Amino acid sequence: MLQRRRHLSALLAGLLMLPACAGRKPGDPLKPGYNVYSKEQDIQLGREAAAQIRQQADIVKNSAIQEYVNRIGQRLASSPAADGYPYSFTVINEPGINAFALPGGPVFVYADLIEAADNEAQVAGVIAHEIAHVALRHGTNQASKSQLIQLPAVLAGAVIGDGSLLGQLGQLGIGLGVNSILLRYSRDAETEADALGARLMAEAGYNPIEMARFFEKLEAEGGSRAPQFLSSHPNPGNRMKAIEAEIQTLPQRQYGFSTGNFQQIKAAVKKLPKPKQPQQQTTAASAGPPPAPTGGFQNFQTDRFTLAYPHGWETFGDRRSRVLTIAPRQGLVQTGSGTVSLGYGAVLSYFTPSARSLGPATNELISQLRQANSSMRATGQRQVTVAGNPGLLTNMVSASPYGGTERDVVLTVMRPEGLFYMVFVSPEQSSAQLGDTFNQMLQSIRFY
Ligand SMILES: [Zn+2]
Repeated sequence: MLQRRRHLSALLAGLLMLPACAGRKPGDPLKPGYNVYSKEQDIQLGREAAAQIRQQADIVKNSAIQEYVNRIGQRLASSPAADGYPYSFTVINEPGINAFALPGGPVFVYADLIEAADNEAQVAGVIAHEIAHVALRHGTNQASKSQLIQLPAVLAGAVIGDGSLLGQLGQLGIGLGVNSILLRYSRDAETEADALGARLMAEAGYNPIEMARFFEKLEAEGGSRAPQFLSSHPNPGNRMKAIEAEIQTLPQRQYGFSTGNFQQIKAAVKKLPKPKQPQQQTTAASAGPPPAPTGGFQNFQTDRFTLAYPHGWETFGDRRSRVLTIAPRQGLVQTGSGTVSLGYGAVLSYFTPSARSLGPATNELISQLRQANSSMRATGQRQVTVAGNPGLLTNMVSASPYGGTERDVVLTVMRPEGLFYMVFVSPEQSSAQLGDTFNQMLQSIRFY
């Protein structure tokens, strides 16, 4: 709870500071913005996410390609401006022209990006831009700013004292995927990453104008189907001019560094097998909610409770993190801002209230939910019995990520370890259909 309070006050301070960022002039110093995470948490979060990406993504096995990108990356990262994070550089053979950086240092470069570049400085430009996102902590800055509007992330922040950070953020897919919140940057963040990236390039002996040229080339080639890099790193406008203006503020120096291996590596990249198309991880809001579950239930067991959930639904989040989402894959909705919200399914965890009786403890939880999502309001409450324990069901309405109204039913039960809660989430049009499913899940709960 202490942690949570710190988050809130820090958030308010951060909101007040936000408009101040807009007026940066070329050459002005660049510093990380508002953040509720520590640098150590950036590193931990990035390490956990990178481990998952390494399992899921097709890592290029050609060691010459990996060593080449690593050499460029480490050269750029050796600047004090990169702030000493444990950087790593990994080439993956996934479809698209893209690159991304995780908080705390892991950078991933798509093989096709190397093929699209005209020279080594352009590859270095993208890597320098990614290093800048890490050093300026844009990923967790973004997550910090969104924490109040992202209900599950707030729930996680409110109830977790330990466990995996990625579990906190990633239990709803927030932490992973190219369109995840950690990897979608604001235009201001892009401008900053371009500026710091230009500095890193200059210090490493690469001509920073090649970064601007490469972005321009991608834009020109992309047409209506712009490379993915530009959707995760949106052009803040006048990108070329801004980079040129930044370069004007840098000390004069000789550019033209190159490892001399670019053409050879580019040829090796051309010989890689065609990347496999990715599986759709989440659904678009326009696709609408999934159909009602059919075909029975399966059991989920933790060390504190068991419950049954429909076949075809999945569990997200690790048991360590204590926040569990149970939903069909299509219940995770990708919204316009690129974040992932639960639109259909259930979230459950423990909350640590200051009150020790059910009614007041539930009120504390509800007020946390409402702080997280101001569109939420309670419409009624009734008593239930869950495995012999007194419980409360609080009905709430809020805005659905599918559009329209969402019905949230919050079950709370006081347990020795805290207030057990489960939030059943459904869009209004599905709430009648899902009522039975939720009821059966509720009836199946057994505590140890
Ligand atoms: Zn960027």
